[in-house]
Amino acid sequence: MKIPSSNLNEVRLLDRAVLVLNANYSPMMICTAKRAICLDYLDKIDILANYNEKVSSPSLTLDLPSVIKIKNYVRYDNLSLDLNRKNIISRDDYLCQYCGCNKGPLTIDHIIPKGKGGTDTWENLVAACKPCNQKKGNQKPEEVGMLLRKKPKRPNRLHYFQKFVKEKQKDWRPYLFMEPFKT
Ligand SMILES: [Zn+2]
Repeated sequence: MKIPSSNLNEVRLLDRAVLVLNANYSPMMICTAKRAICLDYLDKIDILANYNEKVSSPSLTLDLPSVIKIKNYVRYDNLSLDLNRKNIISRDDYLCQYCGCNKGPLTIDHIIPKGKGGTDTWENLVAACKPCNQKKGNQKPEEVGMLLRKKPKRPNRLHYFQKFVKEKQKDWRPYLFMEPFKT
């Protein structure tokens, strides 16, 4: 089936990321505009901000939601992120934490090697390029004269959401504490 190009554009708009806030305004997750429109239809959310674009069907035209807030508070651990490879590399901005390069597939390095008592924690795991990881081997950084670019910390979900904010997501910024609310 051939879809007219104007409809394809609408499909893309419906996939646009929407920031979902809990009833107490804490950021919870990101969903698609399509999902947000459904939730609005079911009266489960309040729409706090819209994108400039609109979506239309033959019978109606809708604003494209950008930030929504659910009406009933959901118990949710909103400050923890799973400790895994993807989230460590994302926390480290896709950069090797020793040389700062972003070349090649990044590996995960134990700062204090496991054999020397290092643990699997946010504070002991960093993204490292293959050459740096090989150079470091089973040593502590100071033993091979390598320096970390920053002290690794446990990230929170806010950090994760902030990475989604581009030009079109300007309305997300106050809710993610990236700028004050305009009054
Ligand atoms: Zn490196």
